[in-house]
Amino acid sequence: MQIRFFCDQMLGNLAKWLRFLGFDTLYALGDMMDDELMRVCKAEDRILITRDKELVVRCKKQLIAVVQIGCDGVTDQILQTIQETKASIDRGHFLSRCSQCNCLLERIEKKTIEEIVPKRVFDSHDDFLYCSSCKRVYWMGTHTDSIIEKLLSLQSSITD
Ligand SMILES: [Zn+2]
Repeated sequence: MQIRFFCDQMLGNLAKWLRFLGFDTLYALGDMMDDELMRVCKAEDRILITRDKELVVRCKKQLIAVVQIGCDGVTDQILQTIQETKASIDRGHFLSRCSQCNCLLERIEKKTIEEIVPKRVFDSHDDFLYCSSCKRVYWMGTHTDSIIEKLLSLQSSITD
């Protein structure tokens, strides 16, 4: 089974990058209580990711898997998470999820999104992905190229 995560309120950027890698990653909303976070992790077999030392202690008592982030940069945070959980990075899963809401993206026929995306984007791209939850449309471009480049460099720094 693929590994699943739950990032606490402080780690939104890490959550976004774990989604770029293709991991099923929830992100705690601002008013979510620690008890609720822990309950979901237990119910859905998710690994909790936090910087909160007290929360780490509580999780360990309840046998909830937890990663205690100890670094600031998001690259280091991703590496720590992947290494501690022994998650495997699979290029086939890159950019398969909506970075905003974690849903798996679906391929969508080009003609159906003509009214939605800017004309220059529509004219210069053929492959579009769609999030059925937040209705965002994604396409491959210079932005995604630079994300994929970073994901590949993360992958190689872990396998080396
Ligand atoms: Zn979405």
